[in-house]
Amino acid sequence: MLKLSHLNPEWASYRLGIFICLNCSGIHRNLPQISRVKSLRLDFWETDLIEFMKKHGNLCAKAKYEAKVPPYYYIPQSCDCLVLKEQWIRAKYEREEFVATRICQDPCSAGTREGFLWKRGRENRQFQKRRFLLSAREGVMKYYTKEVSSSARVDRR
Ligand SMILES: [Zn+2]
Repeated sequence: MLKLSHLNPEWASYRLGIFICLNCSGIHRNLPQISRVKSLRLDFWETDLIEFMKKHGNLCAKAKYEAKVPPYYYIPQSCDCLVLKEQWIRAKYEREEFVATRICQDPCSAGTREGFLWKRGRENRQFQKRRFLLSAREGVMKYYTKEVSSSARVDRR
């Protein structure tokens, strides 16, 4: 899926459950190991394929395959050349570069991150271990100035 949506999405990948344009259908057709293409108008659609398309769709694919696109990553637009689009499609669906890790998909841990960082001490210039906590809900990064107690469970030195 391209950023400005596909112009005239008359095609679909029934493996990925997405609607795509003619240009992208050509690219998907060349990647049979990850995608299978049908025309919305010209091809016959079996009932179970229609059900599959209903359950999935572009937003669903975006949520999965674009979960971790870096902010600086250039996502091709409708007007971009095919080479750029193919690179994007391969990165997204073939190499699954932007699929979230299992930790990120867990909604229970999505709001906060906890870990350790090394802070150079003011007096002795030695690095000291400090616990930190990122909270999306509170919009803060808490940072503990006291030495981490030895009873801390997550110690990955
Ligand atoms: Zn397209």
